[in-house]
Amino acid sequence: MKKISIVIPAYNEEGNVTLIHEKIKEIFSGLKNYDFEIIFVNDGSRDNTQTKLEELSQKYEEIKYIEFSRNFGHQPAVKAGMDNAKGNAVISMDGDLQHPPELIPKMIEKWEEGYDIVFTIRTYPKQISIFKRKTSDFFYKILSSLSDVNLTKGGGSDFRLMDANAVEVMRNFKEDDLFLRGLTSWMGFKQTGIEFTASERASGESSYNLKKMLTFAFTGITSFSVKPLYIAAYLGFLLSGLSVFGYISYVIYAFVVKTEISGWASLIMTIVFFGGLQLIMLGIIGIYLGKIFKQVKERPNYIIKNKNF
Ligand code: UDP
Ligand code: MG
Repeated sequence: MKKISIVIPAYNEEGNVTLIHEKIKEIFSGLKNYDFEIIFVNDGSRDNTQTKLEELSQKYEEIKYIEFSRNFGHQPAVKAGMDNAKGNAVISMDGDLQHPPELIPKMIEKWEEGYDIVFTIRTYPKQISIFKRKTSDFFYKILSSLSDVNLTKGGGSDFRLMDANAVEVMRNFKEDDLFLRGLTSWMGFKQTGIEFTASERASGESSYNLKKMLTFAFTGITSFSVKPLYIAAYLGFLLSGLSVFGYISYVIYAFVVKTEISGWASLIMTIVFFGGLQLIMLGIIGIYLGKIFKQVKERPNYIIKNKNF
């Protein structure tokens, strides 16, 4: 019998862990040829998630848990689950039921067809307006063009199936700033995507706010490409080229027309503009420098305090 490991990061999901286990159990009761295990990764929850997990694991042998020493974030939690999974295939999904377990049989079907990675493409629910869809698509397009991996494909979710081979490859990555959906896309292998519509959170609150999402977007860009550095350099060349041109025309103008060009305000604005531009470029360099700084220390992505297997 083939075994499927389901990895579920859980941060303050006390209201959801029992529910998601029931749903998954139900799905697998319909899949006769597969065994399953659920690996919950408690990412330093501040509620009763840990007690719930311990209770569940005592009742059901398919329930495993990993407890982190503190909150390390969603991506390290998924990685930890995958590092410890023993299945022939590993499915990662959120613990709040926004990733419908009903999709699992279809993912397994694709895997059996020979795909090593089955990612999911999140489609918009009907209530979302055209305007919001378009702006979101636009945002992803910009991000993708800045980065060397396609962020739209499977964008917006870490709901995917990976064959044990691909998981083994992932296990050996030494990358500090994890961006799993980019890494899986970058890895290659035989991949396919299936669509799903995300539902509302079953209970509790989302822990992703705008600031976290922006940081995540920056990680996505800077982990996969040095394009921003090139843009900075090109912009530098362009602007200094333009300024030489402007300077020459000013000199010619001053000799031919013989009047001073006034414009204190525009001068100040120009200084402010270029001051800002230089800070942005320094910031971009700084982000890459910060990544190198974090990487050279070679700290682990997460610390496990306790696990039941
Ligand atoms: N999560 C986690 N650590 C965190 C934040 C979130 O393990 O620091 C988990 C969370 O329990 C959930 C998944 O990651 O299973 C997605 O989080 P959330 O639902 O808050 O994000 P959203 O769906 O709003 O993007
Ligand atoms: Mg969610």
